[in-house]
Amino acid sequence: MSESIGNTGTGMKLHTKILLALVVGATAGIAANLTLGGDDGRVEWVNTYLAGPVGQVFLRLLFMIVMPLVFSSIALGVAGLGDLKKVGKVGGKAISYFFVTTAFAATFGLVMVNIIKPGESIPEEVRTELMATYAEDAAGKIEAQQTGGFGINTFVNIVTRNPVKSAADGDMLGIIFFGLMFGAALTQLKPEVAKPMLDVLQAINDVVIVIVGMAMKLAPYGVAGLIFGVTSRFGFALLKPLAGYVTVVMAALLLHMFVNLSLILKFVIGINPITYFSRIKGALVTAFSTSSSSATLPAALRASQENLGVPPKIAGFVLPLGSTMCMNGTSIFEGITVIFLCQVFGVDLSIGGMAIVMIMSVITAIGAAGVPGGSIPLLVGILAMMGVPGEGIAIVLGVDRILDMTRTVVNVSSDISASVFVAKSEGLWDESMVPPAGQTAA
Ligand code: ASP
Repeated sequence: MSESIGNTGTGMKLHTKILLALVVGATAGIAANLTLGGDDGRVEWVNTYLAGPVGQVFLRLLFMIVMPLVFSSIALGVAGLGDLKKVGKVGGKAISYFFVTTAFAATFGLVMVNIIKPGESIPEEVRTELMATYAEDAAGKIEAQQTGGFGINTFVNIVTRNPVKSAADGDMLGIIFFGLMFGAALTQLKPEVAKPMLDVLQAINDVVIVIVGMAMKLAPYGVAGLIFGVTSRFGFALLKPLAGYVTVVMAALLLHMFVNLSLILKFVIGINPITYFSRIKGALVTAFSTSSSSATLPAALRASQENLGVPPKIAGFVLPLGSTMCMNGTSIFEGITVIFLCQVFGVDLSIGGMAIVMIMSVITAIGAAGVPGGSIPLLVGILAMMGVPGEGIAIVLGVDRILDMTRTVVNVSSDISASVFVAKSEGLWDESMVPPAGQTAA
Protein backbone atom coordinates (compact mmCIF):
# COMPACT_ATOMS: atom_id res chain seq x y z
CA MET A 1 0.00 0.00 0.00
CA SER A 2 2.61 2.48 1.09
CA GLU A 3 4.67 1.54 -1.95
CA SER A 4 1.96 2.51 -4.40
CA ILE A 5 1.41 5.82 -2.62
CA GLY A 6 4.99 6.58 -1.72
CA ASN A 7 6.65 6.01 -5.06
CA THR A 8 5.67 7.47 -8.36
CA GLY A 9 7.03 4.77 -10.58
CA THR A 10 9.89 6.96 -11.79
CA GLY A 11 11.94 6.04 -8.76
CA MET A 12 11.36 9.49 -7.23
CA LYS A 13 9.49 9.63 -3.92
CA LEU A 14 6.14 11.32 -4.17
CA HIS A 15 6.92 14.03 -1.64
CA THR A 16 10.12 14.90 -3.52
CA LYS A 17 8.06 15.22 -6.70
CA ILE A 18 5.51 17.44 -4.91
CA LEU A 19 8.24 19.69 -3.55
CA LEU A 20 9.74 19.98 -7.00
CA ALA A 21 6.32 20.85 -8.42
CA LEU A 22 5.93 23.51 -5.73
CA VAL A 23 9.22 25.14 -6.73
CA VAL A 24 8.47 24.92 -10.46
CA GLY A 25 4.91 26.30 -10.02
CA ALA A 26 6.04 29.15 -7.78
CA THR A 27 8.95 30.10 -10.05
CA ALA A 28 6.73 30.06 -13.14
CA GLY A 29 4.08 32.12 -11.32
CA ILE A 30 6.51 34.76 -10.09
CA ALA A 31 8.15 34.93 -13.53
CA ALA A 32 4.74 35.39 -15.18
CA ASN A 33 3.85 38.10 -12.67
CA LEU A 34 7.09 39.99 -13.13
CA THR A 35 7.24 39.79 -16.93
CA LEU A 36 3.58 39.90 -18.01
CA GLY A 37 1.80 41.16 -14.88
CA GLY A 38 -0.90 39.51 -12.75
CA ASP A 39 -3.84 40.69 -14.85
CA ASP A 40 -2.39 39.90 -18.26
CA GLY A 41 -4.88 38.00 -20.44
CA ARG A 42 -2.54 35.08 -21.05
CA VAL A 43 -1.79 34.64 -17.34
CA GLU A 44 -5.51 34.78 -16.61
CA TRP A 45 -6.14 32.20 -19.35
CA VAL A 46 -3.61 29.79 -17.84
CA ASN A 47 -5.19 30.29 -14.41
CA THR A 48 -8.74 29.80 -15.64
CA TYR A 49 -8.24 26.88 -17.99
CA LEU A 50 -5.15 25.06 -16.77
CA ALA A 51 -3.57 25.78 -13.40
CA GLY A 52 -6.88 26.51 -11.62
CA PRO A 53 -8.79 23.42 -12.80
CA VAL A 54 -5.90 21.00 -12.17
CA GLY A 55 -5.42 22.40 -8.65
CA GLN A 56 -9.14 22.25 -7.93
CA VAL A 57 -9.51 18.66 -9.19
CA PHE A 58 -6.71 17.58 -6.85
CA LEU A 59 -8.26 19.36 -3.84
CA ARG A 60 -11.73 18.05 -4.70
CA LEU A 61 -10.51 14.45 -4.91
CA LEU A 62 -9.15 14.77 -1.38
CA PHE A 63 -12.26 16.49 -0.04
CA MET A 64 -14.40 13.84 -1.73
CA ILE A 65 -13.15 11.16 0.61
CA VAL A 66 -12.77 13.18 3.82
CA MET A 67 -16.28 12.54 5.15
CA PRO A 68 -16.34 8.74 4.64
CA LEU A 69 -12.80 8.58 6.00
CA VAL A 70 -13.57 10.58 9.13
CA PHE A 71 -16.74 8.62 9.81
CA SER A 72 -15.23 5.18 9.30
CA SER A 73 -11.98 5.86 11.14
CA ILE A 74 -13.69 7.46 14.16
CA ALA A 75 -16.32 4.71 14.40
CA LEU A 76 -13.66 2.00 14.04
CA GLY A 77 -11.37 3.77 16.50
CA VAL A 78 -14.07 4.04 19.15
CA ALA A 79 -15.29 0.48 18.58
CA GLY A 80 -11.67 -0.73 18.72
CA LEU A 81 -11.14 0.87 22.12
CA GLY A 82 -13.80 -1.47 23.46
CA ASP A 83 -15.60 0.12 26.33
CA LEU A 84 -16.93 3.63 26.73
CA LYS A 85 -14.84 4.41 29.81
CA LYS A 86 -11.75 3.87 27.72
CA VAL A 87 -13.11 6.13 24.97
CA GLY A 88 -13.64 8.87 27.56
CA LYS A 89 -10.15 8.44 28.94
CA VAL A 90 -8.42 8.47 25.56
CA GLY A 91 -10.61 11.34 24.33
CA GLY A 92 -9.87 13.31 27.50
CA LYS A 93 -6.13 12.84 27.07
CA ALA A 94 -6.26 13.84 23.40
CA ILE A 95 -8.33 16.95 24.06
CA SER A 96 -6.10 18.01 26.98
CA TYR A 97 -3.06 17.69 24.73
CA PHE A 98 -4.76 19.74 22.00
CA PHE A 99 -5.72 22.39 24.48
CA VAL A 100 -2.41 22.73 26.32
CA THR A 101 -0.25 22.83 23.17
CA THR A 102 -2.61 25.28 21.45
CA ALA A 103 -2.62 27.63 24.46
CA PHE A 104 1.13 27.43 24.66
CA ALA A 105 1.40 28.24 20.94
CA ALA A 106 -0.93 31.25 21.20
CA THR A 107 1.04 32.65 24.13
CA PHE A 108 4.29 32.19 22.25
CA GLY A 109 2.91 34.08 19.23
CA LEU A 110 1.67 36.92 21.42
CA VAL A 111 5.04 37.31 23.09
CA MET A 112 6.76 37.52 19.70
CA VAL A 113 4.37 40.09 18.21
CA ASN A 114 4.61 42.25 21.30
CA ILE A 115 8.37 42.27 21.19
CA ILE A 116 8.72 42.96 17.46
CA LYS A 117 5.63 45.18 16.97
CA PRO A 118 5.38 44.86 13.16
CA GLY A 119 2.16 46.92 12.98
CA GLU A 120 3.64 50.20 14.08
CA SER A 121 5.61 50.77 10.90
CA ILE A 122 2.75 50.55 8.38
CA PRO A 123 2.22 53.99 6.80
CA GLU A 124 -1.32 55.35 6.63
CA GLU A 125 -1.51 55.41 2.80
CA VAL A 126 -0.40 51.77 2.48
CA ARG A 127 -3.12 50.81 4.95
CA THR A 128 -5.79 52.61 2.94
CA GLU A 129 -4.57 51.11 -0.32
CA LEU A 130 -4.52 47.55 1.00
CA MET A 131 -7.99 47.92 2.47
CA ALA A 132 -9.35 49.21 -0.83
CA THR A 133 -7.84 46.27 -2.73
CA TYR A 134 -9.34 43.59 -0.52
CA ALA A 135 -12.51 45.29 0.66
CA GLU A 136 -14.78 43.05 -1.42
CA ASP A 137 -13.15 39.82 -0.24
CA ALA A 138 -13.26 41.02 3.33
CA ALA A 139 -16.97 41.81 3.07
CA GLY A 140 -17.62 38.14 2.20
CA LYS A 141 -15.63 36.94 5.23
CA ILE A 142 -17.42 39.34 7.53
CA GLU A 143 -20.75 38.06 6.31
CA ALA A 144 -19.61 34.47 6.87
CA GLN A 145 -18.65 35.42 10.39
CA GLN A 146 -21.99 36.99 11.09
CA THR A 147 -23.91 33.92 9.93
CA GLY A 148 -21.55 31.39 11.47
CA GLY A 149 -20.25 33.20 14.55
CA PHE A 150 -18.96 31.56 17.68
CA GLY A 151 -21.29 31.02 20.63
CA ILE A 152 -23.22 28.44 22.63
CA ASN A 153 -24.79 27.18 19.40
CA THR A 154 -21.35 26.21 18.14
CA PHE A 155 -21.46 23.50 20.79
CA VAL A 156 -25.13 22.60 20.41
CA ASN A 157 -24.66 22.25 16.65
CA ILE A 158 -22.00 19.60 17.14
CA VAL A 159 -24.89 17.25 17.89
CA THR A 160 -25.92 16.91 14.29
CA ARG A 161 -29.58 16.70 13.42
CA ASN A 162 -28.86 14.99 10.12
CA PRO A 163 -25.53 13.27 9.46
CA VAL A 164 -26.16 13.13 5.72
CA LYS A 165 -26.66 16.88 5.62
CA SER A 166 -23.58 17.38 7.81
CA ALA A 167 -21.54 15.34 5.35
CA ALA A 168 -22.96 17.30 2.43
CA ASP A 169 -22.25 20.63 4.11
CA GLY A 170 -18.72 19.68 5.12
CA ASP A 171 -19.66 19.94 8.80
CA MET A 172 -16.79 17.92 10.17
CA LEU A 173 -17.71 18.17 13.86
CA GLY A 174 -21.19 16.82 13.11
CA ILE A 175 -19.71 13.81 11.35
CA ILE A 176 -17.17 13.26 14.13
CA PHE A 177 -20.01 13.26 16.65
CA PHE A 178 -22.06 10.82 14.56
CA GLY A 179 -19.00 8.57 14.17
CA LEU A 180 -18.42 8.65 17.94
CA MET A 181 -22.03 7.68 18.65
CA PHE A 182 -21.95 4.98 15.99
CA GLY A 183 -18.73 3.45 17.30
CA ALA A 184 -19.93 3.71 20.90
CA ALA A 185 -23.18 1.94 19.99
CA LEU A 186 -21.24 -0.82 18.24
CA THR A 187 -19.42 -1.58 21.49
CA GLN A 188 -22.79 -2.23 23.13
CA LEU A 189 -23.74 -4.99 20.68
CA LYS A 190 -22.87 -8.65 20.95
CA PRO A 191 -19.61 -9.25 19.02
CA GLU A 192 -21.27 -11.49 16.43
CA VAL A 193 -23.93 -8.82 15.76
CA ALA A 194 -21.39 -5.98 15.51
CA LYS A 195 -18.97 -7.88 13.26
CA PRO A 196 -20.64 -7.37 9.84
CA MET A 197 -20.84 -3.60 10.40
CA LEU A 198 -17.23 -3.47 11.59
CA ASP A 199 -16.21 -5.34 8.44
CA VAL A 200 -18.11 -2.85 6.28
CA LEU A 201 -16.50 0.12 8.05
CA GLN A 202 -13.08 -1.44 7.64
CA ALA A 203 -13.76 -2.02 3.94
CA ILE A 204 -14.88 1.62 3.48
CA ASN A 205 -11.70 2.72 5.19
CA ASP A 206 -9.56 0.53 2.92
CA VAL A 207 -11.31 1.69 -0.25
CA VAL A 208 -10.91 5.33 0.70
CA ILE A 209 -7.20 4.87 1.28
CA VAL A 210 -6.86 3.44 -2.24
CA ILE A 211 -8.68 6.48 -3.65
CA VAL A 212 -6.25 8.71 -1.75
CA GLY A 213 -3.40 6.90 -3.47
CA MET A 214 -5.00 7.68 -6.81
CA ALA A 215 -5.54 11.34 -5.91
CA MET A 216 -1.96 11.67 -4.74
CA LYS A 217 -0.74 10.63 -8.20
CA LEU A 218 -2.19 13.94 -9.35
CA ALA A 219 -0.67 15.84 -6.42
CA PRO A 220 2.44 17.23 -8.15
CA TYR A 221 0.34 18.74 -10.96
CA GLY A 222 -2.35 19.97 -8.58
CA VAL A 223 0.22 21.58 -6.32
CA ALA A 224 2.00 23.27 -9.22
CA GLY A 225 -1.36 24.62 -10.41
CA LEU A 226 -2.39 25.93 -6.98
CA ILE A 227 0.89 27.70 -6.29
CA PHE A 228 1.05 29.15 -9.81
CA GLY A 229 -2.41 30.68 -9.23
CA VAL A 230 -1.25 32.48 -6.09
CA THR A 231 2.17 33.66 -7.23
CA SER A 232 1.17 34.74 -10.75
CA ARG A 233 -1.56 36.99 -9.34
CA PHE A 234 0.30 38.54 -6.46
CA GLY A 235 4.02 38.19 -7.14
CA PHE A 236 6.11 40.02 -4.55
CA ALA A 237 4.26 43.33 -4.66
CA LEU A 238 2.06 42.58 -1.70
CA LEU A 239 4.81 41.19 0.39
CA LYS A 240 6.70 44.46 0.69
CA PRO A 241 4.47 46.54 2.97
CA LEU A 242 3.53 43.48 4.99
CA ALA A 243 7.02 42.01 5.18
CA GLY A 244 7.36 42.64 8.92
CA TYR A 245 4.05 40.98 9.70
CA VAL A 246 4.69 38.00 7.42
CA THR A 247 8.17 37.55 8.92
CA VAL A 248 6.88 37.53 12.51
CA VAL A 249 4.13 34.99 11.71
CA MET A 250 6.51 32.75 9.77
CA ALA A 251 9.24 32.98 12.41
CA ALA A 252 6.80 32.19 15.22
CA LEU A 253 5.35 29.23 13.29
CA LEU A 254 8.75 27.76 12.48
CA LEU A 255 10.16 28.36 15.97
CA HIS A 256 7.10 26.75 17.52
CA MET A 257 7.46 23.73 15.29
CA PHE A 258 11.20 23.23 15.48
CA VAL A 259 11.87 24.40 19.02
CA ASN A 260 8.74 24.21 21.20
CA LEU A 261 7.20 21.15 19.61
CA SER A 262 10.60 19.48 19.39
CA LEU A 263 11.06 19.97 23.14
CA ILE A 264 7.64 18.41 23.75
CA LEU A 265 8.52 15.53 21.43
CA LYS A 266 11.82 14.91 23.14
CA PHE A 267 10.97 15.43 26.79
CA VAL A 268 7.25 14.70 27.06
CA ILE A 269 6.76 12.04 24.39
CA GLY A 270 10.28 10.64 24.21
CA ILE A 271 10.84 10.60 20.46
CA ASN A 272 13.79 12.16 18.68
CA PRO A 273 12.42 15.25 16.86
CA ILE A 274 14.58 14.62 13.80
CA THR A 275 13.26 11.08 13.54
CA TYR A 276 9.73 12.39 14.06
CA PHE A 277 9.82 15.06 11.36
CA SER A 278 11.56 12.82 8.86
CA ARG A 279 8.85 10.16 9.39
CA ILE A 280 6.01 12.59 8.73
CA LYS A 281 7.44 14.64 5.89
CA GLY A 282 4.96 13.24 3.34
CA ALA A 283 2.07 14.52 5.48
CA LEU A 284 3.79 17.89 5.96
CA VAL A 285 4.26 18.38 2.24
CA THR A 286 0.58 17.55 1.69
CA ALA A 287 -0.40 20.05 4.40
CA PHE A 288 1.74 22.76 2.82
CA SER A 289 0.35 22.19 -0.64
CA THR A 290 -3.34 21.84 0.29
CA SER A 291 -3.57 24.37 3.19
CA SER A 292 -6.07 22.00 4.71
CA SER A 293 -5.76 19.79 7.79
CA SER A 294 -8.84 17.86 6.64
CA ALA A 295 -7.45 17.13 3.20
CA THR A 296 -4.20 16.06 4.89
CA LEU A 297 -5.96 13.60 7.19
CA PRO A 298 -5.35 10.53 5.00
CA ALA A 299 -1.62 11.33 4.78
CA ALA A 300 -1.50 12.02 8.53
CA LEU A 301 -3.16 8.69 9.32
CA ARG A 302 -0.71 6.87 7.14
CA ALA A 303 2.32 8.61 8.63
CA SER A 304 1.14 7.98 12.17
CA GLN A 305 0.32 4.30 11.65
CA GLU A 306 2.91 3.20 9.15
CA ASN A 307 5.86 5.40 10.04
CA LEU A 308 5.47 6.06 13.75
CA GLY A 309 3.96 2.82 15.06
CA VAL A 310 0.72 4.30 16.43
CA PRO A 311 -2.01 1.63 16.45
CA PRO A 312 -4.96 2.31 14.08
CA LYS A 313 -7.50 2.47 16.90
CA ILE A 314 -5.62 5.39 18.49
CA ALA A 315 -4.63 7.15 15.24
CA GLY A 316 -8.11 6.63 13.79
CA PHE A 317 -9.65 8.25 16.84
CA VAL A 318 -7.17 11.04 17.69
CA LEU A 319 -6.28 12.31 14.19
CA PRO A 320 -9.77 13.08 12.83
CA LEU A 321 -10.47 14.96 16.08
CA GLY A 322 -7.10 16.69 15.89
CA SER A 323 -7.54 17.72 12.26
CA THR A 324 -10.31 20.05 13.32
CA MET A 325 -9.50 20.74 16.98
CA CYS A 326 -5.72 20.81 17.34
CA MET A 327 -4.43 23.88 15.54
CA ASN A 328 -1.24 25.17 17.11
CA GLY A 329 -0.30 27.06 13.95
CA THR A 330 -3.70 28.70 13.61
CA SER A 331 -3.67 29.97 17.19
CA ILE A 332 -0.23 31.53 16.67
CA PHE A 333 -1.45 33.16 13.46
CA GLU A 334 -4.65 34.49 15.03
CA GLY A 335 -2.95 35.96 18.08
CA ILE A 336 -0.29 37.70 16.01
CA THR A 337 -2.75 38.97 13.41
CA VAL A 338 -5.13 40.47 15.98
CA ILE A 339 -2.32 42.28 17.79
CA PHE A 340 -0.77 43.36 14.49
CA LEU A 341 -4.06 44.91 13.38
CA CYS A 342 -4.53 46.53 16.79
CA GLN A 343 -1.10 48.13 16.29
CA VAL A 344 -2.02 49.25 12.76
CA PHE A 345 -5.31 50.82 13.89
CA GLY A 346 -3.85 52.23 17.07
CA VAL A 347 -6.02 50.13 19.41
CA ASP A 348 -4.24 50.05 22.75
CA LEU A 349 -4.52 46.74 24.53
CA SER A 350 -4.23 46.34 28.27
CA ILE A 351 -2.85 43.16 29.76
CA GLY A 352 -6.48 42.04 30.24
CA GLY A 353 -7.16 42.68 26.55
CA MET A 354 -4.09 40.62 25.71
CA ALA A 355 -5.43 37.76 27.85
CA ILE A 356 -8.74 37.90 25.98
CA VAL A 357 -6.90 37.73 22.64
CA MET A 358 -4.99 34.71 23.90
CA ILE A 359 -8.12 32.89 25.10
CA MET A 360 -10.06 33.73 21.94
CA SER A 361 -7.16 32.61 19.75
CA VAL A 362 -7.26 29.22 21.44
CA ILE A 363 -11.04 28.85 21.29
CA THR A 364 -11.29 29.91 17.67
CA ALA A 365 -8.33 27.75 16.65
CA ILE A 366 -10.17 24.80 18.18
CA GLY A 367 -13.38 25.84 16.44
CA ALA A 368 -11.91 26.60 13.00
CA ALA A 369 -12.54 24.19 10.16
CA GLY A 370 -9.49 22.43 8.71
CA VAL A 371 -9.97 23.91 5.26
CA PRO A 372 -8.04 26.63 3.40
CA GLY A 373 -8.70 29.92 5.20
CA GLY A 374 -10.91 28.11 7.74
CA SER A 375 -9.89 30.44 10.55
CA ILE A 376 -10.51 33.73 8.74
CA PRO A 377 -14.25 34.16 9.55
CA LEU A 378 -13.53 33.45 13.23
CA LEU A 379 -10.65 35.90 13.18
CA VAL A 380 -13.06 38.59 12.03
CA GLY A 381 -15.08 37.85 15.17
CA ILE A 382 -12.09 38.44 17.47
CA LEU A 383 -11.23 41.67 15.66
CA ALA A 384 -14.74 42.98 16.22
CA MET A 385 -14.46 42.07 19.91
CA MET A 386 -11.24 44.05 20.23
CA GLY A 387 -12.64 47.10 18.46
CA VAL A 388 -10.63 46.70 15.25
CA PRO A 389 -12.75 47.37 12.15
CA GLY A 390 -13.62 43.97 10.61
CA GLU A 391 -12.52 45.31 7.25
CA GLY A 392 -9.00 45.38 8.69
CA ILE A 393 -8.84 41.74 7.71
CA ALA A 394 -8.53 43.06 4.14
CA ILE A 395 -5.02 44.15 4.99
CA VAL A 396 -3.79 40.63 5.56
CA LEU A 397 -5.93 38.63 3.11
CA GLY A 398 -3.54 39.12 0.22
CA VAL A 399 -0.69 37.35 1.98
CA ASP A 400 -2.84 34.82 3.76
CA ARG A 401 -2.30 31.95 1.36
CA ILE A 402 1.38 31.52 2.18
CA LEU A 403 0.68 31.92 5.90
CA ASP A 404 -2.18 29.42 5.61
CA MET A 405 0.09 26.88 3.95
CA THR A 406 2.67 27.25 6.70
CA ARG A 407 0.27 27.26 9.65
CA THR A 408 -1.40 24.12 8.29
CA VAL A 409 1.99 22.37 8.39
CA VAL A 410 2.30 23.33 12.07
CA ASN A 411 -1.29 22.21 12.72
CA VAL A 412 -0.64 18.81 11.19
CA SER A 413 2.68 18.39 13.07
CA SER A 414 0.86 18.94 16.33
CA ASP A 415 -2.02 16.60 15.37
CA ILE A 416 0.32 13.71 14.65
CA SER A 417 2.31 14.36 17.82
CA ALA A 418 -0.96 14.10 19.76
CA SER A 419 -1.55 10.61 18.36
CA VAL A 420 1.92 9.48 19.49
CA PHE A 421 1.43 11.13 22.89
CA VAL A 422 -1.89 9.36 23.48
CA ALA A 423 -0.61 5.99 22.19
CA LYS A 424 2.38 6.24 24.50
CA SER A 425 0.40 7.24 27.57
CA GLU A 426 -1.98 4.33 26.93
CA GLY A 427 0.99 1.95 26.74
CA LEU A 428 0.03 1.20 23.12
CA TRP A 429 2.92 2.84 21.31
CA ASP A 430 5.18 0.24 19.83
CA GLU A 431 8.37 2.23 19.52
CA SER A 432 10.15 -0.65 17.88
CA MET A 433 7.70 -0.24 15.00
CA VAL A 434 9.17 3.13 14.05
CA PRO A 435 11.01 2.02 10.93
CA PRO A 436 14.60 3.11 10.36
CA ALA A 437 15.19 6.07 8.03
CA GLY A 438 14.81 5.31 4.35
CA GLN A 439 12.15 2.64 4.86
CA THR A 440 9.10 4.81 5.30
CA ALA A 441 6.05 5.58 3.25
CA ALA A 442 5.94 9.08 1.76
N1 ASP B 1 -6.00 25.99 6.85
C1 ASP B 1 -5.92 25.67 8.25
C2 ASP B 1 -5.97 24.18 8.43
O1 ASP B 1 -6.61 23.49 7.66
C3 ASP B 1 -7.00 26.34 9.06
C4 ASP B 1 -6.78 27.83 9.12
O2 ASP B 1 -6.02 28.28 10.00
O3 ASP B 1 -7.32 28.57 8.29
O4 ASP B 1 -5.40 23.64 9.35
